[in-house]
Amino acid sequence: MLNKNIQTFIACDSEYEDAKVVLFGAGFDGTTSFRPGTRFAPSAIRNESFGIETYSPYQNKDMTDYSYFDSGDIELPFGSTNRAVDDIASRAGIILEDGKLPFMIGGEHLVTLGSVRAVKERYSDLYIVHFDAHADLRDDYLGQKLSHACVLRRCHELVGDGHIFQFGIRSGDREEFYFADEHTEMHKFSFDGLEETVEKLRGKKVYFTLDLDVLDPSVFPGTGTPEAGGVTFEELRNAVTLVCSRLDIVGCDVNELSPVYDQSGVSTAVACKIIREMLLALS
Ligand code: MN
Ligand code: MN
Repeated sequence: MLNKNIQTFIACDSEYEDAKVVLFGAGFDGTTSFRPGTRFAPSAIRNESFGIETYSPYQNKDMTDYSYFDSGDIELPFGSTNRAVDDIASRAGIILEDGKLPFMIGGEHLVTLGSVRAVKERYSDLYIVHFDAHADLRDDYLGQKLSHACVLRRCHELVGDGHIFQFGIRSGDREEFYFADEHTEMHKFSFDGLEETVEKLRGKKVYFTLDLDVLDPSVFPGTGTPEAGGVTFEELRNAVTLVCSRLDIVGCDVNELSPVYDQSGVSTAVACKIIREMLLALS
């Protein structure tokens, strides 16, 4: 049993027992390779979420018609990456154990590893759908195996070949792209091929990880490693709705918002709207 947080994401204030989807924040940014600040994302997202509507005209659904629970942020030890990943896995594990879907708000992208570990423990044949500007397939980053630049490589060690589907990728070193040729299904630059992937993964258990820097920095400047040439908000909204409504999602996360790099606050507003659309599509 988890306790209710004082401030929740908008309309995520149901009783724990009633909720199918359980949010939690994992504001860890200890391995960020360039500009830190994603530790502030969960609280910024909760605050700003009250600036959006609970009703989605895109899906003609209202969050108030469903039950969501926000279990607050995990207090993470910034000096110990291993411990942080373990703590994330245990929070996700509790939520899964209670028959609910863990929905994590990062944090940098490494947080995904903890959640995927917990989900994989429960579902042995697990597939991952990954939206990102970056391949995140490095074997190590400056000697560190636990880094946001390596997170999908670590996930690959858990789920194996042919189980990771990447979209929007436009950055990485040559080795990462060679690795993807052999071990993952990578769709570069856009969401081309997503419909086919959704067809292929029908009936499978899927973890969905969304690195918001897949968006073009003109739409989403508030991130640590901005990469020019990204997708539009509408392209991402359509893609997340497709994935969350048509696939059997057993865990998901939204990561890499770094609110301090966007004085306008629009990046946080974008994150809130995407999270709302995901929550509604999952319902
Ligand atoms: Mn990433
Ligand atoms: Mn990225």
